[in-house]
Amino acid sequence: MQLTPENLSTVDFGKSELIPAIVQDYATGVILMQGFMNLEALQVTFEKKLVTFYSRSKSRLWTKGESSNNVLTLVEAHTDCDKDSILILATPAGPTCHLGTESCFEDAKPELAFLGTLEKVISERKNADPKSSYTASLFAKDLSRSCQKVGEEGVEVALAAMKQDKEELLNESADLIYHLLVLLQRSELSLPQVVETLAKRHR
Ligand code: AMP
Ligand code: ZN
Ligand code: ZN
Ligand code: ZN
Repeated sequence: MQLTPENLSTVDFGKSELIPAIVQDYATGVILMQGFMNLEALQVTFEKKLVTFYSRSKSRLWTKGESSNNVLTLVEAHTDCDKDSILILATPAGPTCHLGTESCFEDAKPELAFLGTLEKVISERKNADPKSSYTASLFAKDLSRSCQKVGEEGVEVALAAMKQDKEELLNESADLIYHLLVLLQRSELSLPQVVETLAKRHR
């Protein structure tokens, strides 16, 4: 069930005052960290729109990023079937793990999550120095260059498939997806919007 500021009291803190809260990156689906919340931590999370736990070592409320600035901005919060755990969807401002990695479960990232990471990297290159990266140099060129690239890579994908060259098909597919992500970015659209369009057709 999705949580709102009005229904936080429906979460079951009866079995234990502290319940697990899992934080997932809204854009990539990567699991970032797990902490514990009491009702107050959950309320503060909604008030500040910043994920706030109850720290068992500090014995107080702890807003993630309070000293590092690597905060987690709340997007959505949900409880599970029996309302004794919480799943938070959030946008991280930086690496979530205090060891400097994106996630505290750094070696457990699903392969598809990289598409979201790549989209983020591409958007960060949008206004970068064209000499600093290939992506930045693409953004510096006309939109027509990106349109042409998507067309070319699409043809290359088809040719590789016709040849039944799997290695080439993988490489050309990677090129196509990369240039499609750039083109979507330049058209102010996102991969989640494309996925939503596909999912709507399925319903
Ligand atoms: P921060 O909340 O990022 O300002 O970090 C403050 C302190 O909280 C750090 O020095 C760590 O002791 C601890 N900490 C930060 N992030 C994590 C995390 N993802 N998991 C466990 N402890 C953390
Ligand atoms: Zn449960
Ligand atoms: Zn960690
Ligand atoms: Zn290619």
